[in-house]
Amino acid sequence: MIIRELLNTLDEKVPFASSESWDNVGLLIGSKEIEASGILTALDCTMEVVDEAIEQGINTIVAHHPLIFKGVKNITDDSYGPIIKKLIQHDINLIALHTNLDVHPQGVSYMIGQHIGLKHMRLLEEQEIPYYKVQIFVPDKDVEKMKSIFNQHQLAQTNEYSEVFFQSQGKGQFKPSEHAQPHIGQANETEIVYETKLEFMVESHEIQLVKKLINDYHPYEEPVYDCIEMKKSAPTGLGIIGELDNEQSIQSFVAEFKEKLQMPAVRYIGDLKQSIKTVAIVGGAAVEYAQLAKNKQADLFLTGDVKHHEALDAKMDGINILDVNHYSEYVMKDGLKNLLKTWIAEPINIQSSKINTDPYEYM
Ligand code: ZN
Ligand code: ZN
Repeated sequence: MIIRELLNTLDEKVPFASSESWDNVGLLIGSKEIEASGILTALDCTMEVVDEAIEQGINTIVAHHPLIFKGVKNITDDSYGPIIKKLIQHDINLIALHTNLDVHPQGVSYMIGQHIGLKHMRLLEEQEIPYYKVQIFVPDKDVEKMKSIFNQHQLAQTNEYSEVFFQSQGKGQFKPSEHAQPHIGQANETEIVYETKLEFMVESHEIQLVKKLINDYHPYEEPVYDCIEMKKSAPTGLGIIGELDNEQSIQSFVAEFKEKLQMPAVRYIGDLKQSIKTVAIVGGAAVEYAQLAKNKQADLFLTGDVKHHEALDAKMDGINILDVNHYSEYVMKDGLKNLLKTWIAEPINIQSSKINTDPYEYM
């Protein structure tokens, strides 16, 4: 499998376009035309992870956190420079799946949920896809012509259906001025025409084409139409919410969490006497989703990187938060390895990194 094909598969399964606008995903270092000798999944691409790939004869690292992120100004012997140089010197490809993996329904939060045995997991916040509802008023005799023009341009389609229209008939009325060049009717005389209202949906990027086609092909001098912006829920979204098998005390939940994720320490903000059943998770650093988790009846919200004032706010608002450290996202190494094995049909060596890239020492 060449890198181009791997990128196509990844783009189909975890679309790069579903990542945040500030993010940096896809092929960060490498060449699209080389054969992938194997894939190593990692949370962070550290020097140890690069060495691990070299030792294993693997030339492709798929990491969650982008190595090149804030805008690299130079590649020298300082900072991340040596890692970038080593990747290039050893022809190792580096691919980042970051927020596009976070918003995947089986993404990083889901993987943490699986580790703690959460049931009935659903998205905490579904993403929304903008689209347009177009309604256009056409004389009955011109309806089929207009539909065929839209069809020729692959408009009015869903995933599996094409030529998706609704039409209803009614009476249209207008009075042309003496300067008009009417398709039907005469100046200064009220005209009544049997018209069809044609309705269909298009994606946001198609709306300019639709307007152009209406203006080019509608028989009227001044076509009548509306393009109404709408939103529908996407299959992707951030975070998950689900239930534990049994209601549990905070103490026993935390003890089990630390054991299952091999976390030496976590930090809790909230009521220590609380017993919990519904748990929401947003992997990484996402304390801003705590209120949404509470609104959705979560007894406990799991995330990482909670700061002092955010913790105080949560305490004031009566929200229970467990700061499970940003590094708890490391479960994506095995989680992504398993997903890749189901997504890639051809035989290829897929391994998860054994390196612990947590920068903290717990003392
Ligand atoms: Zn993440
Ligand atoms: Zn992260």
